[in-house]
Amino acid sequence: MLVFHPATQKPELETAVLRYRYCPYCGKLLTGRPGREKIHPYCDGCQESFYRNPTVGVAVVVVEGDSVLLARRLGSYAGMWCIPCGYVEWNEEVRDAARREMKEETGLETEIGPVFAVHSNFHDRDRQTVGIWFWGRKIGGELRHGSDASEVGFFRIDALPDAMAFPTDLMVCEKLRHLIRSGSIPVWLASYPESEWT
Ligand SMILES: [Zn+2]
Repeated sequence: MLVFHPATQKPELETAVLRYRYCPYCGKLLTGRPGREKIHPYCDGCQESFYRNPTVGVAVVVVEGDSVLLARRLGSYAGMWCIPCGYVEWNEEVRDAARREMKEETGLETEIGPVFAVHSNFHDRDRQTVGIWFWGRKIGGELRHGSDASEVGFFRIDALPDAMAFPTDLMVCEKLRHLIRSGSIPVWLASYPESEWT
């Protein structure tokens, strides 16, 4: 069983836990095979180890003045707010995923710029993710919520909604608050080559 540190939410006992006990290819009962640091489920019929890895999530930080774009969620964490986000699909380039999620959730066409933050997400212990928060700028579209959100809107960085869904979004917003207050966003953005916006 995973034990999570109360403050950091990081797992204290590192172990790979699969939801299934049988090989998805041949149906044999999986056994344990010692890896370098931990035991991995192993099929001795297929001679294959199975790993459980975090999924990659992407989010896009769009700022206007001292306000950040947020979406009110439907589905998981319904009614709570987050920076618009979603999962990277198989065969999908990570920035394409960010652009797609923005379009689906907020109606906006965005250009994807520098990485603003990267964090591990442990808030849903069965669906751990690595989140990448890209900086984005609006290049078209009209702000309106899509099927994954009930509302979208800009919130002043000093007046975020109380019900924020994810602790890592709060960390990202805290970094954003610091950069907005210190006026350093234009300098930071100027260091990113225009040719790398996609
Ligand atoms: Zn097998």
